[in-house]
Amino acid sequence: MSFHLRSLLDEIKGELAFKYIAIARSLMDKGYDVISFGAGQPDIPTPDHIIEAAKASLDRRFTGYTETAGILKLREAIADYLNERYGASVSPDEIIVTTGAKTAIFVAIASYINPGDEVIVIDPSYPAYSEAAKLLGGIPKYLTLKFDKLKGFEIDLEKLESMITKRTKIIAFNNPHNPTGAVFPPRVVDELMRIAEKHNLIILSDEIYDNFIYDNAPFKSVSQISGWKDRAILINGFSKTFSMTGWRLGYIVARRDVIEKMIRVAVNVYSCATSFAQEAAITALKGDWTPSRKMIELFRRRRDVVYEELSKVEGFEVWKPLGAFYIYPKVSMLLKKINMTVEEFVDYLIDKQRVIVLPGTAFSEISGGDYIRLSYSISEERIREGVKRIREAINELLNRAS
Ligand code: PLP
Repeated sequence: MSFHLRSLLDEIKGELAFKYIAIARSLMDKGYDVISFGAGQPDIPTPDHIIEAAKASLDRRFTGYTETAGILKLREAIADYLNERYGASVSPDEIIVTTGAKTAIFVAIASYINPGDEVIVIDPSYPAYSEAAKLLGGIPKYLTLKFDKLKGFEIDLEKLESMITKRTKIIAFNNPHNPTGAVFPPRVVDELMRIAEKHNLIILSDEIYDNFIYDNAPFKSVSQISGWKDRAILINGFSKTFSMTGWRLGYIVARRDVIEKMIRVAVNVYSCATSFAQEAAITALKGDWTPSRKMIELFRRRRDVVYEELSKVEGFEVWKPLGAFYIYPKVSMLLKKINMTVEEFVDYLIDKQRVIVLPGTAFSEISGGDYIRLSYSISEERIREGVKRIREAINELLNRAS
C-alpha cells in the first residue's frame, strides 16, 4: 500500500555507505577480491575485555529493560570520562544513553524541530542531521566547506552567520569531521558558540571521532566552554573509539531540564539501549584503553599511507586529514578529463577493479559531485593495492579519453 506512505520519504536519502557495503559483500560472496574503502567502521574487533564484560553480564542474566536514560553506572562512567578529559561539569542526570549516536542525533533533533524550522548543516556532512531534520518537518540549509589543498576544509563563519534566519534553530556540527577528516580549530568552536549565543541557536556537536586525532591537531570539545550546556548538545558514542558499531551505543549530553524532555522522545522510540551492552560499555570507559590507543595509532599510520598513495594519483587533489578515518580527495579535474560523473567513476572502479569508494554525493547535496570518500579502515597492504587499482582504472579512462 505504498500510496499511503509519506511522499516526503522519496526525498530522504538512505545512507549510501550501507548500499556499498552490501555491494562489497555480494561481490565477495561471488569470490571476487574486493578492496573496500567504503566502511565507516574500524576493521579491528571490539577489545576482548569488553566482550568478556558483555558475556559476564549475560551470564548474570542482565537481559531486561533498563531505565530509558541508561543504567546509572554507565552514565556515571560517561560523566567521569567527559569531566576528566574536558572538564565538562556533567552529572549523570544530564546524559541519555541511546542506541548509537545516530539515534542520539534523531532524538536531539526531534526534541527541537517544529515544522518549517531550519537546521544549518555543514556540506559535506554525515547525512543523519539533514535527513532527520527533513523527516521531522524541518528544512536543512547547507553550508559548503571551503577547500584548499594546503589548508584543508574550513568553515566560512561569515557565510554561516549570513544564513541564519528567524527560522534557524540548530547548527549541526561534527568535529572531527566525517567525511573530510578535518579537525576544526578551537577558534572555530568558540566562534560557533558565540554565533549561537548571539542568535539564540543550539549547537548540536557530534564528537564521535574525538579520539581519532592525529599529529596533535588542536581539538576543542564544546564541553570545554564554560556554560556550554546553555547553548550546546553533545553527542558521542562507543562505535568508533571502542570499535563497537554493532553494539548500538551512543549518548546525548545536555542540561538536565532538556534531558528530561528528550527522555519523552527516547522512551517512545527505543525504550532503552541494550542492557548487557550498557554494562560492557562501563568496562570500555573504565577499563584498559590500550587496545583503543593501539588501534588509533594504527589508523594514524594508515592515514599516512593512504595520503601518500593518493597524492600520486593523476587528477586527485588531496589534503592530509587530521582526524576520523576518512580522506576526501577532490576529483573534479579528473572527472572533467574523463567526462564522467562521480557516481559513474565510482561504478567504474567497482566494475573494472573491484575497488569500492563512496561518491561525495553520499555526503553532500551541493559539492559532493567533485569528491570521493575513502575510509582507511583496511590494512596498509590493501590500501596500497587499492590505490594501485584506482590508478590503473584512471590510466585506462585517460587513454580512452585521449
Ligand atoms: N556521527 C558520525 C559523524 C558518524 O560518522 C557516525 C557513523 O559513521 C555516527 C554518528 C553514527 O554512529 P553510531 O554507530 O553510534 O550510530
